[in-house]
Amino acid sequence: MNTYVISREDLAFNVGFLRTKAGKTDIWAVVKANGYGLGAGAFAKELEALGIRNFCVTELSEARELRQVLTEDCQILMLRQLCDPAEIRELAQEKVILTVGSSRAAQRICEATELPVRVHLKVDVGMGRYGFLPSEGEELLRICRDSGDLQICGIYTHFPCAFCDDKTTKAQFEEFMDLVKYLKEAGCDLGCVHCCNSSAFLRHPTMHLDAVRLGSALLGRMPFATELRPLGMVESCIEELRHLPKGHSTGYGSVWRAKRESTLAIIPVGRVHGLRVVGQPDRSRAIDCIRGMVQELRNLLKRPVTTVRIGGKSCPVVGAVGSLHCAVDVTGLDCQVGQKVTLNVNPMYLKNMEVQFR
Ligand SMILES: *Cc1c(COP(=O)(O)O)cnc(C)c1O
Repeated sequence: MNTYVISREDLAFNVGFLRTKAGKTDIWAVVKANGYGLGAGAFAKELEALGIRNFCVTELSEARELRQVLTEDCQILMLRQLCDPAEIRELAQEKVILTVGSSRAAQRICEATELPVRVHLKVDVGMGRYGFLPSEGEELLRICRDSGDLQICGIYTHFPCAFCDDKTTKAQFEEFMDLVKYLKEAGCDLGCVHCCNSSAFLRHPTMHLDAVRLGSALLGRMPFATELRPLGMVESCIEELRHLPKGHSTGYGSVWRAKRESTLAIIPVGRVHGLRVVGQPDRSRAIDCIRGMVQELRNLLKRPVTTVRIGGKSCPVVGAVGSLHCAVDVTGLDCQVGQKVTLNVNPMYLKNMEVQFR
């Protein structure tokens, strides 16, 4: 049977590493997108066992799951700004902190529920989805001074280019901090001030402030090299060993043919499980199309190989990956039917598989 395994030791290493870097700054664990594929509730519970007390979600379903598994005093912040009154009511009952990025959003919360609701104000320095613009200081001041049943306990922003552009991020940080300073000087009690996601946290130690919101860093899967340990791998087994004559093919399209007598291990992991499935790159700008083409040309020269670990060795997947299977060239390797193997699959693309923490 296929299982997606997360090493508790590696998760603890990553949390420890990030905590050392964070120092006095609080860590809010982001478990959106169903816990980056690991299951929001299951992932949050593991993190709580490692001492994390603050969590961020983007779905009502995730907030419900977290409330079921976490101790009551853990804080949950909803990062998305909601418009559905029923959702707002339920989250208020569950004591989830809501995000407010406009006066209208504040009003909607007050109309949806009589309950006192804790909120974090959101500032938009370039993401352009939710949030007060840095020029809307006066509007924010009005909300701070007359917030009714809303208890403002935080203010935050989210950087669009933290993973790739330090200069833009620094300028956006300054804009955010100018606004925070303006509000504080006018007497607003803003509570927790935060701006960093994983990329900003690792690249800009001066931006840590009161708290940081970390998702991908917990999983050790960043778009640049770090000391973090990448979490998660598929555990499967060799379901069949095939001894094929020279010239025989494997997989759809017969794109691979044996150049010599070969032994293939058949592994029951394929595209329905997320193997070799990658996100569709966003190529809405011409420059991204060109970069994409350059990357494709590079791939032509040095074709990326998907590998499977078998008995401590990395073996190449050959031929097209099927929906349910892949074939691995194990010619000359001592291995048996039923032997355990491991494959690297990004949990974001993981499907149809049980996740286990061990
Ligand atoms: C997703 C998200 C994060 C976490 O991002 P990572 O890069 O995975 O750390 C932080 N803040 C907000 C608002 C997010 O949407």
